[in-house]
Amino acid sequence: MTTTEPDPGTIVYFNHRFMPLRDATVSILTHALHYGTGVFEGIRGYWAAKEHELFLVRPMDHFQRWKANAGILRITVPHSALELSEIAAELCRRNDFQTDIYIRPLAYKSAARIGVSTDDTDSFSIVAVPFGVYLDSSKGLHAGVSSWRRVEDNAIPGRAKICGAYVNSALASDEARRCGFDEAIFLTESGHVAEGATCNVFMVRHGQIITPPSTDNILEGITRASIIELAHSELGLGVEERSIDRSELYVCDELFFTGTAVEVGPITQVDHRLVSNGRVGPLTRDLRDMYFKATRGKLDRYRHWLMPAHRSALVTV
Ligand code: PMP
Repeated sequence: MTTTEPDPGTIVYFNHRFMPLRDATVSILTHALHYGTGVFEGIRGYWAAKEHELFLVRPMDHFQRWKANAGILRITVPHSALELSEIAAELCRRNDFQTDIYIRPLAYKSAARIGVSTDDTDSFSIVAVPFGVYLDSSKGLHAGVSSWRRVEDNAIPGRAKICGAYVNSALASDEARRCGFDEAIFLTESGHVAEGATCNVFMVRHGQIITPPSTDNILEGITRASIIELAHSELGLGVEERSIDRSELYVCDELFFTGTAVEVGPITQVDHRLVSNGRVGPLTRDLRDMYFKATRGKLDRYRHWLMPAHRSALVTV
């Protein structure tokens, strides 16, 4: 799906200061624009009207992942995860968001010159925009196994949200939509299920929840980690991390995607085959409901996942 372009007056954080989006511009020679040498993140914030508060979901985990993965490209983000979370919260306050939002941090090689080597300047930006439903999964999603294979860790590491690697997701996502699917499922070069174009995959078989291991070229999703925690703590169910065969997708009992944008997206058809009886399965429904409540501040046990943007400390950087 595509989202609309944000208002150019939206306040963003760029070159170490807050400014309108219209002023946050880069040279057309920027290294990352040509060679894909950036690492980005995606964080959601949910507006809780009753509490008049905007809850950022696991911002510390997202910013820690961002900083660590930027290191794969030897990009340094010059702030702690806490300082970055506070900048994100300040952005929400300056824009006075009273709606669900999405935050997009981007760290990138910013030298404006020709040449692929990366031994020079880094920059970063953080943008927050209003954001609603990404994939409408209310009736269940139809997923299609892509003809494109997932990038290999020793080619472009999929565990990092590296800009250039998203050509892989864009090709698969475009193909899926043109073929009438809602989302693609990537296989690895060895033929195992890796993940969706923008989300992780979980399967339920014989009462066991299973998801591909982090060594099958997946992005180590924060929503994936949240679902593993909810399954364990709320349902007393362990999640098995093991390789999944393509044909297991056709014989499993339940299948769902997880991701910051996708949230928990039940898959009710895969490659024109119904998943079980073609209805959203019970474990998927329970996990989706719990994730929904936890991220909206309705489960006290998971309040520590949330940062209240309007009430958090004033930005100190
Ligand atoms: N895989 C890919 C390729 C993604 O782009 C995303 C979205 N960030 C995910 C998985 C899910 O990760 P997360 O739950 O951290 O958003």
